[in-house]
Amino acid sequence: MNDRQITEQLLTFLADSPSPFHAVETMSRRFREEGYTELHEEDIWDLKKGEAYYVTRNHSALIAFCIPETEEYRFHITASHSDSPCFKIKEDPEMKVENAYIRLNVEKYGGMLMHPWFDRPLSVAGRVILQQNGTLREKTVKADRDLLMIPSLAIHMNREANEGMKLNPQKDMLPLYACGTEEGSFLRTVAEEAGAAPEEILGHDLFLYNRMPGCIWGANREFVSAGRLDDLQCAFASMEGFLQAERKKCIAVHCVLDNEEVGSSTRQGAASTFLKDTLMRINFGLGRTYEDYLRTIAGSMMISADNAQALHPNYTEKADPVHHPVLNGGIVIKYNANQKYCTDGVTGAFFRVLCRKAEVPCQTYVNRSDIAGGSTLGNISGTQAAIRTVDIGLPQLAMHSPYETAGVKDTGYLIRALREFFA
Ligand code: ZN
Repeated sequence: MNDRQITEQLLTFLADSPSPFHAVETMSRRFREEGYTELHEEDIWDLKKGEAYYVTRNHSALIAFCIPETEEYRFHITASHSDSPCFKIKEDPEMKVENAYIRLNVEKYGGMLMHPWFDRPLSVAGRVILQQNGTLREKTVKADRDLLMIPSLAIHMNREANEGMKLNPQKDMLPLYACGTEEGSFLRTVAEEAGAAPEEILGHDLFLYNRMPGCIWGANREFVSAGRLDDLQCAFASMEGFLQAERKKCIAVHCVLDNEEVGSSTRQGAASTFLKDTLMRINFGLGRTYEDYLRTIAGSMMISADNAQALHPNYTEKADPVHHPVLNGGIVIKYNANQKYCTDGVTGAFFRVLCRKAEVPCQTYVNRSDIAGGSTLGNISGTQAAIRTVDIGLPQLAMHSPYETAGVKDTGYLIRALREFFA
């Protein structure tokens, strides 16, 4: 498959995954098609060698794994995240304006760039909790039409708008939903999309998403832009590398966690026990002891894959003077002396060997020494399951905008490197 075809598959994956619940649903569907057995955390697991499984938590985090036929017990793990910064719809969202409009009350989820959310068609996606026939059940919901817009203020009413505008999420960022004053109409729209009655909706986790479809562009079609590249580009590449790997001489684990953008400290985030619980259950399910588990962990390896900052053409001074990855330049190995990225000399060298074997290029990222930079999930996850970890990512621009930009070659590079890692 060429870069263009891989990138088109990535764009389909992104379009199918407007919320973490949808991303997990999309991956679950793929694993079922590939013959994976779904496990539930509340059941007894009957694991067999040579079989493949997946389990989800909160329907927003997923772990898939393959147990080899051989006596190979090392875990080879990739970790990425399912969530992206966006706006969450508040519980009772309708707000009337002068008996003329209804807008929606929203709050920030994660640290996003707010400016690019103005003046573009938006809609809602997430899950609703329905009470039907006396029981509560969850259902993913996506309004698949242009439903909302956050209109900016005209330049005539704020002549300083281009001098750097301060944005207040409670004042400036509320999306316009309808004309009129009819109460309850938003929940009715959501209920209709969910195929339920409005009174059956007892709870919801709904987020705004950007309606603009992803595109491949540039003089030689070398760029790809879409919402949620951070971090669904890595989640997609990890899944593909995991599925395409041929001989699995390790217990291969594909792990996608939620809530990275808000610090990971949730039941389904990297700070939770989800990964550790799953690894332990695999260990005990294979009839092994706790000491065996600790020995296995000591010999295991994790690749934490979360997108990286590429050199920005208009702001080259923001990058480290020496280490500045570029789009289409290959997989980025991330280093940070303060261990926000847990790559060290050893795990960095391991990853370079992997790239060499897979014949894909890699590059290096470190922050400028006077810029704090971001963080990720590798070091957080390491506090639960202490596995040697390398932090990597794919280079991108406009991180945390609702429309981010990356290179068309890099997804394929990561798929090839991970295929090697899991083989
Ligand atoms: Zn990320």
